[in-house]
Order: sequence, then C-alpha cells, then structure tokens
Amino acid sequence: MALIVQKYGGTSVGSPERIKNVAKRVARWKAKGHDVVVVVSAMSGETNRLIALAKEIQAQPDPREMDVMVSTGEQVTIALLSMALLEIGVSARSYTGGQVRILTDNAYTKARILSIDEHNMRADLKAGRVVVVAGFQGVDDAGNITTLGRGGSDTTGVALAAALKADECQIYTDVDGVYTTDPRIVPEARRLKTVTFEEMLEMASLGSKVLQIRSVEFAGKYKVRLRVLSSFEEEGEGTLITFEEDKDMEKAVISGIAFNRDEAKITVLGVPDRPGIAYQILGPIGDANIDVDMIVQNVGHDGLTDFSFTVHRNDYQKALNVLKPVLEHTKARGIQSGDKIAKVSVVGVGMRSHAGIASTMFRTLAEEGINIEMISTSEIKVSVVIDEKYTELAVRVLHKAFGLDQAA
Ligand code: ADP
Ligand code: ASP
Ligand code: MG
Repeated sequence: MALIVQKYGGTSVGSPERIKNVAKRVARWKAKGHDVVVVVSAMSGETNRLIALAKEIQAQPDPREMDVMVSTGEQVTIALLSMALLEIGVSARSYTGGQVRILTDNAYTKARILSIDEHNMRADLKAGRVVVVAGFQGVDDAGNITTLGRGGSDTTGVALAAALKADECQIYTDVDGVYTTDPRIVPEARRLKTVTFEEMLEMASLGSKVLQIRSVEFAGKYKVRLRVLSSFEEEGEGTLITFEEDKDMEKAVISGIAFNRDEAKITVLGVPDRPGIAYQILGPIGDANIDVDMIVQNVGHDGLTDFSFTVHRNDYQKALNVLKPVLEHTKARGIQSGDKIAKVSVVGVGMRSHAGIASTMFRTLAEEGINIEMISTSEIKVSVVIDEKYTELAVRVLHKAFGLDQAA
C-alpha cells in the first residue's frame, strides 16, 4: 500500500463529466489499497475569467482582494470532486488551503509555502477517506488567503507529497507526459520516458509550462518522486522526473526545446564605456524590484558602448520609466526597446559531454534567416533571443536539427 498524491489540472476537471472521470480514477487507486490525496485546479478558463472580472473593476486589482477572489475557482472543484467521490461510494472530504493550514508568506498572488500541517489529512487518511485539497492557495499567519502564482496547483501537489512523504506525486494533465517540446507547436514532439530533475528545472524556467517551476524546485529539494501523466488515458507511464542521468548511450544530447514570449528587450545606446556603468543602469532596475534575465554589453567604440538586457513583459513599462533619469545621469544617447521578442532554448545534460551544440543551433537558425539578438548559456542550456514572429519556425527547425522528431 502506498500513499499517492494526485494533482488534476484545469482541463482535467473542466466539466462535471470530467470531474466524474477523475473520481473514477481516484476510486480505482483507492480500491487497490492506496491512500490518496487529491489536489485540484479550478475548472479550465475559470482563473482567467476571474482575473478579467477584477480588471473590469480595478485596472491594477488590489493583490489581497485578488487572492480572495481567484482562490474561489479551486473551492468549487474540491467540493464537486468530493461530491463525485461520495456519489460513487468513496468516502472523501474537501479542504481549502487555509483549512489544511498550508502556511505561506504574505506575498499575495505569488506567495511561497512555508509549512504544511499534515494533522487533519493524516487523520482522514487513517479513517479511510480520500483527502481533496484546493491547489494554488494557502493562508498567511494572519489568516489572509494567498495564492501561489499561475500554475501553482502543481506546487501544492508536490508540497503536499513532500510533507506527507508520499511514495509518488502524479501530475495529471491534458498531455501524457513531458515532451521534447510543446506538442501544440510541434506535432512531431515525442514524450520523454524520463527527464532529469535538472533538465526539467531548466525547461520549466525557460517556458515549458507543463510544470510550474516552483513545483520542480520543491521536488528537487525534498526528493519527491514526480510523474506527469494524462488524465484522459486509462493506462500509461507518463514521464518520470529522475534524479539520475539516463545512461542510455543512444539518448539524444538535447532533451528538449523550450520557448517563451514573456520578455521584453531594452538597449541603452551610447553609454560611456567605463567601470560602474552596468551598475548605474541595473542598480535602479533592481531597486525597483524588476528581475533582469539576459544581459549583453557590446564591445565599446570611441569610449561608448551599447548595453542590452531583458525583463519580464509585465515589468517592461516600469523598467522604461525607471531608466528615464538614468539616461540623463549617464549621458547615454538613447534607448531602443521592444517586447516583440521570444527566447528559444535547447536543454540537455548531454551538453556537458558534447561540444558543438551552440554552433548547430546558430547554423540552423542562420539557414532559416533568423537573426539572433542575444545569447546566453549555462552548462546544460543555450538560449537565444529572436524576433517573436519566428518563434514557431525556430522551435520546429531546431527540434528537427537535434534529432528530436518522432521516428516516422
Ligand atoms: P494543467 O491545466 O493540467 O495544469 P497546463 O496547461 O498548465 O495543464 O500544462 C499542460 C500543457 O503544457 C500542455 O497542454 C502543453 O501544451 C504545454 N506544454 C508546454 N511545453 C510542454 C512540454 N515540453 N511537454 C508537454 N507539454 C508541454
Ligand atoms: N487555477 C490556477 C491557474 O490557472 C492554478 C493552476 O491551475 O495550477 O493558474
Ligand atoms: Mg498547469
């Protein structure tokens, strides 16, 4: 007998029919003698609907009230799933994040989990009940409702699995595992049987939204056995996130290709090329709580240089405002900026032992006439910034160039 935490995403609980199917699957696991804790998201589209509603009232909704509201999506699905379980004779009880006491900090809309009280859940499991917990939400120490950021139910699932020392955390979604790239963009993408935790962390942080990045961080920290599976298939092994490298020699050097369109690029033109200039530009950006991702400083000419960096699109306008006085201090020539960019990345632990990944990537993009605007690398990834309009083309040609397409 094992203790399993199962998380079902929005599409998987998107209608009463689908909720009934989830209940049947949970019942099957229960019938095999396992203890089951289920985490659910809001019905698909519901969180977006609620956010849009808030924006009709306040252009910049108050974060505390936003969390009071968006957390209601998951409160509906825990009750419906518990009803569906009761209806088929499975004893079950629902819990909001606050009722479990998933304690978080008070950073509304992006709170972090600090601790989880397992007491109530353990008592229910002991009494033979299925425990159904609302994903995405918690409570701070003053009793305020908080939420964990978009896609946060994944993190609730993994955090509960860590707290309960579950044998496995299963993330049920609308694809049957983690693919070499988003299968919606590249139909030839293949499901990975395993992916290392390190690779998954890179893929999630570089834009593969199949798992929220914090859920992967949690799984790594607490060594949670994590699996991604389809909620629409009866059987299937999905993708297991492993802590060891696959020693299969035939395995491709690159495991996956990630992309995102969440960033904007800012170039400060003609700044004096002298010590301290990066700090003069990025200091105020950091002070304004804006995260910077990629940074490029060009070789100087005649004592002047150009300095480029990327920020999240949500922070783009704010960053431009912060830079206005900086332009005056530094006597820079001006600013060039745009948010129509995409970041495309190739990820794989095989890069550690294989040379030439970056050159293959650059050649492949050049052959399509795609200009690379920025580059950054780490031990297991190469990322480039390109014009947004070439995103899909770039992902497709790279997928093919690195031998990731499905065998015909
Ligand atoms: P859920 O509502 O179940 O949390 P999400 O929409 O958050 O589901 O995540 C699943 C989606 O992630 C898939 O439908 C797929 O389009 C997208 N996705 C992006 N990159 C990948 C990838 N590498 N492998 C699988 N799915 C991916
Ligand atoms: N319902 C939340 C969202 O749409 C959390 C989740 O689905 O994981 O972001
Ligand atoms: Mg998700």
